[in-house]
Amino acid sequence: MEHIRSKKLYEEAKKYIPGGVNSPVRAFKSVGLDPVFIEKAKGSKVYDVDGNSYIDYICSWGPLILGHSNDEILDGIEEVLNRGTSYGIPTEIEVKMAKLITEAYPSVDMVRMVNSGTEATMSALRVARAYTKRNKIIKFEGCYHGHSDALLVKSGSGTLTYGVPTSPGVPKGTVEDTIVCTYNDIESVENIFNEQGEEIAAVIIEPVAGNMGVVPPKKEFLERLRKITKDYGTVLIFDEVITGFRLAYGGAQEVYGIEPDMTCFGKIIGGGLPVGAYGGKREIMKMVSPVGDVYQAGTLSGNPLAMYMGYKTIMKLKENKHIYDEIENKAKRLEEGFKENINKLDIDAEVNRIKGMLCLFFAEGPIKSYDDVSRCNTKKYGIYFREMLQRGVLMPPAQFEGIFLSTEHKDEDIEKTIKASYEALKIAYE
Ligand code: PLP
Repeated sequence: MEHIRSKKLYEEAKKYIPGGVNSPVRAFKSVGLDPVFIEKAKGSKVYDVDGNSYIDYICSWGPLILGHSNDEILDGIEEVLNRGTSYGIPTEIEVKMAKLITEAYPSVDMVRMVNSGTEATMSALRVARAYTKRNKIIKFEGCYHGHSDALLVKSGSGTLTYGVPTSPGVPKGTVEDTIVCTYNDIESVENIFNEQGEEIAAVIIEPVAGNMGVVPPKKEFLERLRKITKDYGTVLIFDEVITGFRLAYGGAQEVYGIEPDMTCFGKIIGGGLPVGAYGGKREIMKMVSPVGDVYQAGTLSGNPLAMYMGYKTIMKLKENKHIYDEIENKAKRLEEGFKENINKLDIDAEVNRIKGMLCLFFAEGPIKSYDDVSRCNTKKYGIYFREMLQRGVLMPPAQFEGIFLSTEHKDEDIEKTIKASYEALKIAYE
């Protein structure tokens, strides 16, 4: 498999774009390769500029639950485009979209559209802080909520600690109100609440962690989180940017039967165009400008093209809920195939799966927290990724990302992936 044109483009790109990419993980750095440049995509496949094709398990990092350039979703987009690309003045589809989301998520009475998941979480926190008139927030180690300053914090290995900025350029002052707790460890949260519960504005969490591979929550952990936040008048924010409309139509909150106070969305609700959204109880959302005083705005928010793609995607999911069972069955088959491979090769690897979300970890299980995830052999994952790519399978170019499936992944894609995975694992563990 040749990557001549990709390499050329990458050299050129590096001259003008930091690292040659517009989002770091695209550089394939952690898997020790130069990135492939994509020319087009259809269904479950992406095609690079050298004419190679790959079964795609990135799916644009989650938005494309109906596969690439889905004809049904694209139908009519030209007409929308020809009517105008953006007005900065309200449109009907924004109302339809908001109604659709609030109907799907009983915990969300009102919703505000933004342009990315980062904006959604950043804005939700601002509202939660204004609502509670408190400053401190809790996040969890290994959960990613976009790259706004206050959330760009990593914790000291598995312990409770005040935030240390993960990135230079984040002022210490911006994160000193960010407290990091341990995912799936309710005691780490209760200890903080016992000391300073009355000062905590919000707890933000990925209800199923999807940014340290896939780590499902213990149900009791989420339930106790709900209880303690309620007891202290703290706003519980579910970051469902990945899980929203993916784990189930009603997201993780439907699966676990827990109602947060606020929810953040992104990815699927844009159908592949840039969208995010945050919403919640009416009482809280009424804080947002122009009804309330919490300022939050966006030149392109509620963009008609993005709304069209997102609306059609959600409608398709709403009218075809069997899609969730179908995707789960594919994920189950992948899990089963991966596990068979692991057993045959007798290697230390683990598969986590919940519904249609899964991840192959290069470490002995169980994988329940960020500490467990940190044990993964990323070097071996790099070899695995490269071998998979050679076999026409595009896995996420980092160990700590989940595998994204779509309706367009066919049985033959899945079987080919399991077979390639056996060969790639064998080489990685040699
Ligand atoms: N929240 C979660 C759970 C995410 O996975 C991501 C991105 O992957 C974000 C927030 C940030 O979204 P965006 O990249 O659209 O800013």
